[in-house]
Parts: sequence; structure tokens; C-alpha cells
Amino acid sequence: MSDIVVSENVSGHTMDRLRHEHDVFYSPHLWHSPDELKAALAHAQALVVRNQTKVTADVIAAAPQLKIIARAGVGVDNIDVAAASAAGIVVSYTPAANAVSAAELAMGLMLALARNIPAAHAHVVSGGWDRVRYMGTELAGRTLGIVGFGRIGQLVAERARAFGMDIVMADPFLRPDSPALLRFDACLLTLDDLLTASDVVTLHVPLMPETNNLIGAAQLARMKPSALLVNTSRGEVIDESALLAALEARQIAGAGLDVRRQEPPGPTPFDTLPNVILLPHLGAFTHEAQERVIDAVCRDVKLVLAGRPAVEYFNFSIPNGSLR
Ligand code: NAD
Repeated sequence: MSDIVVSENVSGHTMDRLRHEHDVFYSPHLWHSPDELKAALAHAQALVVRNQTKVTADVIAAAPQLKIIARAGVGVDNIDVAAASAAGIVVSYTPAANAVSAAELAMGLMLALARNIPAAHAHVVSGGWDRVRYMGTELAGRTLGIVGFGRIGQLVAERARAFGMDIVMADPFLRPDSPALLRFDACLLTLDDLLTASDVVTLHVPLMPETNNLIGAAQLARMKPSALLVNTSRGEVIDESALLAALEARQIAGAGLDVRRQEPPGPTPFDTLPNVILLPHLGAFTHEAQERVIDAVCRDVKLVLAGRPAVEYFNFSIPNGSLR
């Protein structure tokens, strides 16, 4: 029985060192089987996950020695944080480590959609050279609507300004006098107004009950027929059936989806649409981000196992007497 259970692929030099120093059960496919996960956690003090492992109240109840659930990444929607808190278990995460990578991918999807890059590449490698067919649009002078103006949203704004885009944003938790708005010379709008005004809409909200299906048929109907939609946040933020209908009807011009409601999604009607770019949840997957993420995860696991507070707590701002 191991001290530390790693239930997804979290590898690298720092993880190798952790495996040297501690008794680690490293099982990157364990997330597929809740029963095996529960059995592995019977004596564990730390669980390391990405976004696939469903750390439910049931799983937490099966882990009486658990002190820390360390999430290698930023969204903690796969963890029952309330159940962890009630059991005195720290939920740590790595909020800043992959933000630049996610922001760069959002820019990549915008450019790829605006200039038809994947379709044009497929055309050339199959022997074609039709430039008119792949005529694109510039990002410069277009209005970018950023939904969720936190770490990643602001990094996207910084990059989009360098491309000459005008920025509008929607974020119910942002104050109209926020310095971030002044910094980007940006307008804070309601979501409805942002959707109407934007040429490109990019989503950067966390998954919460309030953001599940945030973009549905009514919201898509507000967008311009020429508009592009980019989602590098969470698949559940978009009602996929409504998006499919909107794309098929050319109600919007295109969509770039890094994330899906179900991952992996299996074959879906999106696969054959010419105005869609699909990625396998690559936002955080750069060498640089992964090194930072894994360093931060291993650091916090080691700290908590040594009886000290983690650096990046999600659920407890100050370690207190209720911790295990
Ligand atoms: P963050 O917490 O810094 O920012 C999220 C922002 O969304 C906050 O400013 C918050 O006020 C705002 N928000 C909350 N509810 C909203 C709503 N209903 N409408 C508009 N705005 C709302 O988080 P972040 O670091 O910028 O990351 C955002 C999300 O991106 C993460 O929660 C995660 O789900 C996702 N993410 C995905 C990848 C990937 O691999 N594709 C990588 C990193 C992060």
C-alpha cells in the first residue's frame, strides 16, 4: 500500500524524484476504474490527478488517511471540493503554471480559424494549390469578446492587443473600475452584448453550475454570422447540440474546440464539419507548462506529507485545525 497514488499521466524529472523519495503507486490509467482507485487509496496520504479522475465524495470516503488531493492543472471541477474540505483534506492546484500555454493555444485557434490553416494544409498535402478557396480574414481591427477575464483571459487580451484587436469582455465578478479594464482599454459588457458585438468570442470561465451550458442556442443566435467561437475552457460551457446546429446552419462561421463535454468524445458530427477545428484538450500541454505544473504538484505533496501547508491551496486559505 502506497503513500502517494498518481491516477493519471503526471510524469517528468520531478515526479521521478518523488517516486524515488516516497512510496508512489503510479498508475496513469487508474482514473478509468473508480473501484480500483478506491482500493488504491485505502492507505494513501496523497492523491495526484489531472482532470480525468473523478474524485467524488464516495472516493474520498474510501481514503481515510488522505491529506492532499493535488490537481496538476487549474480546473478543479472533477473534484468534490466540499467533500474534501469536510474531511479536512487539502485540495491543491497549479493555477498559474499553464496559463500562458492555454492563452497561446486560444490565439492559435483564432488564427487557424481565421486563415483556414488546417483545411488549407490538408488541401496542399493532397496535391491542391487553390488560394481563393482558402481566402481568410485578418484579426487586426476585429473585436475580440473574452468571456471570463481571469488569468488566461487577461493573457489572451495582452496577445490580442498586439494583433491589433479591440477587446470587450464579460465577467460578472469584475468591477467596472478594475485596473485590468483600463490596462487593455477594454469594455466590460453583459454576455449578451458581448456576443452581439464580437467577431471572435473566446471562453475562459471555470466550469461551475452557473457556467454549464453558458453558450446555448439563445446565445449563439446573438452572434454574427461571420463570428468565430473558441473554447479552451471546459467542454460543458457550450451546449454542443446547439453549437452543431448553429455551425451546420452557418449561423456562426466557425468554432475551435480544445475541450469537449465528453473526453475523449469518440466520433461526433463535428468531425466532418469544414468550419470546425478540434483538438484533444491541448491547452496545458506544452513542455514548459508541464514542467511547471509537475514541479508545483510535487512540491505541494511533499510539503503536506511533511506536515506543512501547501503553497497553492484551493479550499483552505489558511491551514487550520480541521486539516488531517
Ligand atoms: P481564473 O479563475 O483566473 O479566471 C476565470 C474567470 O472567469 C474569473 O475572472 C471569473 O470571475 C470568471 N467567471 C466566472 N464565472 C463567470 C461567468 N459566468 N461569466 C463570465 N466570467 C465568469 O481561471 P483561469 O486560470 O483563467 O482559467 C480559466 C479556465 O480555463 C479554468 O477554470 C479551466 O477550466 C480552463 N483551462 C483549460 C486548459 C486547457 O487545457 N484547455 C488549461 C488551463 C485552464
